[in-house]
Amino acid sequence: MKITNNKMFEHGKTHDLVCPSCNELVNMQILRSTSAFGGLGFSLFNYKVEYFTICPKCSSLFAVAKDAVKLAEGRTKDFSTISEPKLTFIKNLNIK
Ligand SMILES: [Zn+2]
Repeated sequence: MKITNNKMFEHGKTHDLVCPSCNELVNMQILRSTSAFGGLGFSLFNYKVEYFTICPKCSSLFAVAKDAVKLAEGRTKDFSTISEPKLTFIKNLNIK
């Protein structure tokens, strides 16, 4: 078996938070990334799920701490648990 899928989905938006890169008050887009094992053209199961956010002002990409996402999961889709200390800067995407 090998990785056949690597997908990104829009997952929602954060509450107001200050971007650690540009210090602007923003609502960041939350992206859900799944990598899956596959066979016969379909995914058997997801084995890895990660969350990222992107700042709409400076297009910095951040990884979201797992514990923050776990709290935010569930029926309410309340992402208030995702705050600045939960974000780890990865890189600037330079999207203009
Ligand atoms: Zn920013």
